[in-house]
Amino acid sequence: MSVLEKLNSADAIALEDKYGAHNYHPLPVVLSRGEGVYVWDAEGKQYYDFLSAYSAVNQGHCHPKIVGAMINQAQTLTLTSRAFYNDKLGKYEEFVTKYFGFDKVLPMNTGAEAVETAIKLCRKWAYERKGIAEHEAKIVVCENNFHGRTTTIISFSNDENARKNFGPYTEGFIKIPYDDIEALENVLKSEKNIAGFLVEPIQGEAGVYVPAEGYLAKTKQLCKDHNVLFIADEVQTGIARTGKLLAVNHENVQPDVLILGKALSGGAYPVSAVLANDDIMNVIKPGQHGSTFGGNPIAAAVAIAALEVVEDEKLAENAEAMGQLFRKKMNEYIANSTIATLVRGKGLLNAVVINDTEDSSTAWDICMSLKENGLLAKPTHGNIIRFAPPLVMNEEQLLDCVNIITKTLSAFEK
Ligand SMILES: *Cc1c(COP(=O)(O)O)cnc(C)c1O
Repeated sequence: MSVLEKLNSADAIALEDKYGAHNYHPLPVVLSRGEGVYVWDAEGKQYYDFLSAYSAVNQGHCHPKIVGAMINQAQTLTLTSRAFYNDKLGKYEEFVTKYFGFDKVLPMNTGAEAVETAIKLCRKWAYERKGIAEHEAKIVVCENNFHGRTTTIISFSNDENARKNFGPYTEGFIKIPYDDIEALENVLKSEKNIAGFLVEPIQGEAGVYVPAEGYLAKTKQLCKDHNVLFIADEVQTGIARTGKLLAVNHENVQPDVLILGKALSGGAYPVSAVLANDDIMNVIKPGQHGSTFGGNPIAAAVAIAALEVVEDEKLAENAEAMGQLFRKKMNEYIANSTIATLVRGKGLLNAVVINDTEDSSTAWDICMSLKENGLLAKPTHGNIIRFAPPLVMNEEQLLDCVNIITKTLSAFEK
């Protein structure tokens, strides 16, 4: 078989199965094209994408402005490494810091790398600015967190599947329950060596858990009172996904350290970033942290275009409006449903909880049936289905999707 020959879905799945590590369990659909809110499989069947590559494709598939910026830059200069300056990085750094209101940015590629960067930055700040004794700094994290897949990050996960047999683990993390202000207050009072509090403004992977109103503002204030860095992981919730540019904006919180990834490039290219002000960021000196690809000119050009699209097309406002409509319509259905128990979320980051146990296959079966009906979504934690379409979805498309979802769910009613 020629490597350029067009594959049918069954052949493509067989190849991945045989030659690829089995570190994912995909829905059996093979995608070969995307545009806006739609993707098409190898046989040409059209679907609504309700995963958006875990919220990386907020601006819609193959957005022409983002792809255009990428092609243009790819034909000019792709990579210099940071051993030399390039003529795109500075412009991007000015753009992204003004966009989010910070003094400085440290550019990386993937979300996990940006989280690692934030952890290193926080620890170094603690030793050099806060005066914590070396090796004693602790970072508070939340139960059921998801921050990526590196050895250090899984060290403070409580997903056994993500952790087991990957030890020994990195020390220096204290886990507290999510959405529990008192738990943070207690640990800040009883432990002297706390450097930072790392939190997802909404826990996406855990199943779209939205904390009680006031949680972010109050925990931020507690951090300030105790001279502890409030580190927001907005890799999934950021870039207009929840109906504001950042999920922390719902409570007018400015984090001390902001972590971005995924939709920072509109899904065109791996681009992540850590933002902070000078008093924090300046603890990092040459040679102390970096990445060969971090801050490359393609990433810089793509990220500027991706963030411009968010503003040009008012994606935060649209996510807010479409999210309200989605939850309203789903709540109307759920009122008379035995199979769906609730819908929760903010903007276009939503989840529907299926009335079955976590180890049942019902949510998976529903996703298989949604696929047959032209809509792609994926279960998370067994009985929760996440619904997160690209933010460019219009009202007519959203209502069409609600019809597909409710029609599919009705076939599973007891
Ligand atoms: C996806 C995600 C990450 C990890 O990003 P990768 O690009 O997969 O490394 C980190 N934090 C959150 C909240 C995420 O959703």
